[in-house]
Amino acid sequence: LIEVIPLPSIRRAKSFAIALRRLGVKGVEIRKPEQLQNVSSLIIPGGESTTMAKLAEYHNLFPALREFVKTGKPVWGTCAGLIFLADKAIGQKTGGQELIGGIDCTVHRNYFGSQIQSFEAELSVPELVSKEGGPETFRGVFIRAPAVLEVGPGVEVLAELVSTEQSDLLLGEENAVPEKKVIVAVKQGNLLGTAFHPELTSDTRWHSYFLKMGSEAQEESPSSIVPVGGV
Ligand code: GLN
Repeated sequence: LIEVIPLPSIRRAKSFAIALRRLGVKGVEIRKPEQLQNVSSLIIPGGESTTMAKLAEYHNLFPALREFVKTGKPVWGTCAGLIFLADKAIGQKTGGQELIGGIDCTVHRNYFGSQIQSFEAELSVPELVSKEGGPETFRGVFIRAPAVLEVGPGVEVLAELVSTEQSDLLLGEENAVPEKKVIVAVKQGNLLGTAFHPELTSDTRWHSYFLKMGSEAQEESPSSIVPVGGV
C-alpha cells in the first residue's frame, strides 16, 4: 500500500484516493497521456465537464483516454466523468464539448439542475447489494447531476431514480419530466458510470465493486484517477 498525495485543490480525486486507500489500493493521479500505460483501471471524477474537457484537451489526454477505454480495462466515471464516458451528451449551454465515449447512452448534462438543486437520495441498486452486501439502498449524493436518458442494448442499468417529492421539485430543466424514472448508474462491459458521487459517502461498496470489475486481469498496476476539475 503506497500513500497517494494528490494536490489539495483536486478535491474529488483526493476523496477517491482516500476511499481506495481504505480498500488497500494505490491510486495515482494522471496528468500526462503516457501515464495511462502504467495503470490497470481509471476513475474519472466529477467536476464541470466543459472545464474538464478543456483541460484534457490542453494536456492532450483525449486520444490516450479513448485508447484506454478501447483496451477493455475498467473505467469508472462519476457525474462529469459519466458525461465523458457517454457516447452522446445533451444539455450544454454553449456549444458541444469533446467526450471520450464508450457507453452507448445519451446523458443530459444538467438534468437535475444547478448547484442549489443538489440533493441526496436513497437508491435501490440490486446488483451492488448482491455483489457487495450491506444495506439494501445506497445513499446517492447528486451535485448538479446529470442523468442518463437513453441506453443502447448493451448497457446494463444499475440504478434508477424514481421521481420523489424532492426530485419533482428539483426538476427545473426543460428536458426534465416529473414522475419519470431516470437512469443514474450504468455499466457496459468494463465501463461504469454513476451520476452521483460515491466518493462523498463513507460507503465504499461502489469502489469495491469497481475494483472487482478488473481484478482478474490486472492485479499488478495501480488504479488511477484523472484529476481534471473539481466540484
Ligand atoms: N453537470 C456537471 C457538468 O456538466 C457535472 C456536475 C458534477 O460532476 N458534479 O459537468
